[in-house]
Amino acid sequence: MLAMNYRGPRRVRIDQKPFPEIKHPEDAIVRVTRSCICGSDLHLYNGNVPDTRVGMTFGHEFVGVIEEIGPDVHNVKVGDNVLVPFNIACGKCAFCKQGLYGNCHESNTQATAVGGIFGYSHTAGGYDGGQAEYVRVPYANVGPTVIPPDMDPDDAVLLTDVLPTGYQAAEMGGIQPGDTVVIFGAGPVGIMAAKSAWLFGAGRVIVFDHVEYRLEFVRNYAQCEVYNFREVDDVVVFVKKLTDWLGADVCIDAVGAEAAGNAMQTITGRKTLLQAGSATALHWAINSVKKGGIVSIVGVYGPTDNLVPIGNVVNKGLTIRANQTSVKRLLPRLIDHIQQGRINPKAIITHRVPLEEVAEAYHIFSAKLDNCIKPVLIP
Ligand code: NAD
Ligand code: ZN
Repeated sequence: MLAMNYRGPRRVRIDQKPFPEIKHPEDAIVRVTRSCICGSDLHLYNGNVPDTRVGMTFGHEFVGVIEEIGPDVHNVKVGDNVLVPFNIACGKCAFCKQGLYGNCHESNTQATAVGGIFGYSHTAGGYDGGQAEYVRVPYANVGPTVIPPDMDPDDAVLLTDVLPTGYQAAEMGGIQPGDTVVIFGAGPVGIMAAKSAWLFGAGRVIVFDHVEYRLEFVRNYAQCEVYNFREVDDVVVFVKKLTDWLGADVCIDAVGAEAAGNAMQTITGRKTLLQAGSATALHWAINSVKKGGIVSIVGVYGPTDNLVPIGNVVNKGLTIRANQTSVKRLLPRLIDHIQQGRINPKAIITHRVPLEEVAEAYHIFSAKLDNCIKPVLIP
């Protein structure tokens, strides 16, 4: 079968690989019909995730048809159209039972806290992903969810990660009616967080990025205020000015490690100081939220990154909430939001690319060319 094949930093190609096989009675094989590239894949693509092995197939956002099931699979059957959450979750461990499907204890035996993730290096279990014609889906009684017959598969594929992640970012922010919410990052996740913030009752939603076409998109799509951080002298002071010098009620980091290593600003009194080698968006979030405010982090970082300006967190009495998204927990609510027309995720899909052109798709998405927001690979 054809599958994306990681060859090293910024080198991916399409290759022939063996068909996946049922290895466990609860496995299923899914024939993939759509598979997205995610901002999370860019951390792998850029070589920033430890133990990303040459030969791995990425892809954790996919939908398809159940092709084959193991003898202990009862919740889906051959021929079902399913969406598959990016988390690989056993459904039975202490964490899954709490709804923390992103922190499953069984699907990843590594020391890191993250559960298994499709196509996300050996730090997340070493499972091959869905940027392929076929993929093995472990614990198939738990993740794969039959797509409602009236749902567009383009909406369904965005339910496997980015919509739940943007929504969970807003949920973790504990948004109260009327709150000012500042979101860093206008990628697919930041866009979904902006849209979701309104669903939680935000009174004002402000988004920062430096890619103009993405700012333009989120302004129209989520009816929010947008700013190019490169055109602002000092982001932290700018947010303070917008909020009567109090700071935002909630800040969301929808950027992650992409911003690490850039020049960053740390606040020292009313002035900010440029330093190198830390995470701009995360620092901006911590420094521009109000005292007692909440910083919600969905941006992905390396397991041992040490980037939090803890003194500011303590002195301001902040709450920091962060996690991998537990997709399955949110699906019933989000399916309802889509069916009631409150959110239209497929609007962010800008590119439909044959799986064979996976290398070009990674390049366009990574370099932010051709007004790309979300590319979908079609096997
Ligand atoms: P993306 O790469 O398409 O978008 C990131 C955006 O951030 C880009 O538009 C970029 O220009 C912008 N940016 C860079 N530096 C910035 C800064 N300092 N301030 C403001 N904006 C800045 O990625 P995406 O698909 O939208 O994903 C965003 C993040 O969410 C990634 O880190 C991804 O790994 C993470 N993610 C987490 C989960 C989870 O479960 N927690 C799930 C999906 C994605
Ligand atoms: Zn993703």
